[in-house]
Amino acid sequence: MTKALIIGGGIAGTVTAMALHKAGIDAVVYEAYPPEATDTGGAFLLVANNGLEALRTIDAHGPVLEHGFPATRVEFISNTGKRLGDKPMAGAEDGGLGAVTIRRATLARVLREEAVRRGVRVEHGKRLLAAQTGPDGRVVGSFADGGRAVGDVLVGADGIHSLIRRTIDAGAPRPRYTGQHTVCGYTRDVAEPPAPETYRMVFGKQAFFGCTTAPDGEVWWFSNAPAAELSKAELAAVTPGQWRERLTELFAEDHTPAADIVRATGESIVATAAYDLISTPVWSEEGMVVVGDAAHACAPNAAQGASLAIEDGVVLAKCLRDLPGPRSALAAYEGLRRERVETVAANSAGLARRTAPGPVKRALRDATMPRRLDRAGTTGGDWQTGYRIDWDEPVRS
Ligand SMILES: Cc1cc2nc3c(=O)[nH]c(=O)nc-3n(C[C@H](O)[C@H](O)[C@H](O)COP(=O)(O)OP(=O)(O)OC[C@H]3O[C@@H](n4cnc5c(N)ncnc54)[C@H](O)[C@@H]3O)c2cc1C
Repeated sequence: MTKALIIGGGIAGTVTAMALHKAGIDAVVYEAYPPEATDTGGAFLLVANNGLEALRTIDAHGPVLEHGFPATRVEFISNTGKRLGDKPMAGAEDGGLGAVTIRRATLARVLREEAVRRGVRVEHGKRLLAAQTGPDGRVVGSFADGGRAVGDVLVGADGIHSLIRRTIDAGAPRPRYTGQHTVCGYTRDVAEPPAPETYRMVFGKQAFFGCTTAPDGEVWWFSNAPAAELSKAELAAVTPGQWRERLTELFAEDHTPAADIVRATGESIVATAAYDLISTPVWSEEGMVVVGDAAHACAPNAAQGASLAIEDGVVLAKCLRDLPGPRSALAAYEGLRRERVETVAANSAGLARRTAPGPVKRALRDATMPRRLDRAGTTGGDWQTGYRIDWDEPVRS
């Protein structure tokens, strides 16, 4: 019987483990941090319809729906304050699962809890230091605590700065800084919060802003803001007050609610530098493979990173279920996933580049967007959020 070692208990890791479990394959998750450390942190994200539907194939969407709140509409405002229109969020029509807003740490926690409830072993405090494949084809992982684990396949779900990606290919490209930080904040002091389940997206002149209202009335906001790249230590040293000041300056010239919402936010502001990795040339080697951000990472602008990580886990499990031996399964997984994830990541990079257009592009956007919104079906487009996985359909090599 195949045994999988999964490195990383974030989103991709726990979903891969649950999907393998459903496929009858033994999987153990090794997460570097203790549970309390991975369950904190302030950013929130959107699990799009494709992510929720992928979770549904393994019956794991319930906890995410329960701990998040729905996003069913999105409205757009220009920097002049002009309302450009609104649209249903893809997948929310006809009683579909739609999309869900949830804190990133909560998403990882509820998926992990669900995995454990199903009988998946999740070991915390297990930082992988090295992995290698022995002459018998089995993969050995060595951990910082001196422990070792042996399996038939090792899944690198260890995030954007993946060690497994570099182990598979020492020349693998490094993640690229997108030139932006994603800053998230939470406040109750907003004069006109967005309607329930609605994202209000604001095209600021210098930065992008979005916000939505949680069921308890708190407004959750984010901004994709241009900033110089900071080291981890430099980023940790920037205070919420400094981010507040910086963003208030960026939105000062706009006639939108963004600056007031930022100003009304206290200490609940967190920032993350945004990186992407559109193409990783080698995904697998000798029983090791990468999933989620370890394989491909999206700039946050298309709100797809978590959803793609979920899709990866389900598809990889199907391949390992249906094909004989890891080599053919890992090749099939890459064949099924590469084009899609690279297209989504490139799309997200394009959105990141268009965050602060010049005056001509702004005028064109404001003139044409209302018509385009009327014509388009939903936000996101079917190719991105309409992706579906059929769990029962066998994978063929
Ligand atoms: C601010 C922000 C906003 C975002 N917004 C969205 C959004 O709206 N929608 C969306 O879909 N995506 C969004 N994303 C992207 C999304 O969070 C990622 O794509 C997703 O978390 C990737 O999941 P993952 O499991 O691959 O990696 P991660 O969630 O990073 O998990 C990796 C795990 O591996 C562990 N690990 C790392 N190294 C080791 C090691 N050596 N040994 C053991 N464990 C290890 C880490 O501790 C971590 O728990 C956003 C990201 C950020 C930062």
